[in-house]
Amino acid sequence: MLFSELGLKAEIQRAVTEEGYDTPTPIQQQAIPAVLAGHDLMATAQTGTGKTAGFTLPILHRLVSNPRERAARRPRVLVLAPTRELAIQVEESVRTYGKHLPIESLAVFGGVGINPQIASLRRGVDILVATPGRLLDHVQQKTVDLGGIDIFVLDEADRMLDMGFIRDIRKIIALLPKARQNLLFSATFSPEIRELAAGLLRQPVSVDVAPRNTAAETVTQKVIETNREQKKDLLKHLFATRGLHQVLVFARTKHGADALARTLDKAGIKAAAIHGDKSQGARTRSLGDFKAGKLTALVATDIAARGIDIDALPWVINYELPNVAEDYVHRIGRTGRAGMAGEAISLVCHDERGNLKDIEKLIKRNIERVVIPGFEPAAVAAPRPPQPPRPPRSGQPGGRAPDRKGAAQPGGPAQHRSGSRHR
Ligand code: AMP
Repeated sequence: MLFSELGLKAEIQRAVTEEGYDTPTPIQQQAIPAVLAGHDLMATAQTGTGKTAGFTLPILHRLVSNPRERAARRPRVLVLAPTRELAIQVEESVRTYGKHLPIESLAVFGGVGINPQIASLRRGVDILVATPGRLLDHVQQKTVDLGGIDIFVLDEADRMLDMGFIRDIRKIIALLPKARQNLLFSATFSPEIRELAAGLLRQPVSVDVAPRNTAAETVTQKVIETNREQKKDLLKHLFATRGLHQVLVFARTKHGADALARTLDKAGIKAAAIHGDKSQGARTRSLGDFKAGKLTALVATDIAARGIDIDALPWVINYELPNVAEDYVHRIGRTGRAGMAGEAISLVCHDERGNLKDIEKLIKRNIERVVIPGFEPAAVAAPRPPQPPRPPRSGQPGGRAPDRKGAAQPGGPAQHRSGSRHR
């Protein structure tokens, strides 16, 4: 199947062609006709499947097919995203695919000044991409009118629930007009998501391109068994001996991510950490440097890494396994994207063997074990050194706290507008 067979407006087709895409991905093949036909949608798909274009393209088509009078320029499409990064990326897609259309879009999220967002909303926006906390701030200040929403998209719904956004989501849904089209995207299909979907969607078309908790077939997964105190040296050894570049390294904690980035940097491996305590500017910069190949490694926490959109990431290294097995699937979903081969390497020490078992149970397969000479696991674990007290787990990006605070930062990347103005 080709994009040209989907019946998208010529201006949208042109933008897709300019991006170099001619064949829709499986989710796009299924989602685009369903959304064009006006159906609600329940899509199980991870980042990397092309899901963003899967909803952006038909939404743009529907907007320009049913133009509204210019006088009532309130948002017609609302996309809720769990993190600032994802909100920015979705809005960038809207801009990319809508560049030949007279469509205005805007991303609003916390941690940056609200006033530029208010000014943009006042000028008129067709497609609004938002994180829940900041959107509710706008609602409270009456700087946004959600009464004109025709299409509502909940992106990465599972992560939104994980981050405790359910109340905010329900509040927002209550503000939307009853007659509207709803699209729900989620990487997993838990009972909580099912419940949310049941209340939100009307006779939805279901699209499932990522069978639940199955790791991408194109990703080679390996476990290197070692000792906790040797992990840092092992990681450096891997960089030195395997010519790794563009590696996304996962750490469990923000503090751990920082320390690891410093260690790598000291060893001559250009690295930066990305997590919820970093300023928006620092995170955007690190991600940009990483994408541009200026950084060899980006060390991330689970939540910070969600929604990071990087084409064909070749390597993911789990410096530590996640506590929650499903996060493993999200992590390795960062690599082997859009059919490209990728490798996910997990460094596993004695006290993580239980986590590894949980992961293997979830993905229903055993991961190949590799032992690297000089880093073999000892028969028993060395005693743990005393641990400094852990900071609380709040303060991850997109979470309620950072989404709400950090008000005025004039000049910050508060907004992204798209399209030329036709008023
Ligand atoms: P997403 O799952 O939306 O995060 O998209 C993952 C990546 O796939 C993005 O970088 C897109 O630009 C890219 N992409 C989207 N659609 C296609 C397509 N039809 N063919 C190839 N790549 C695509």
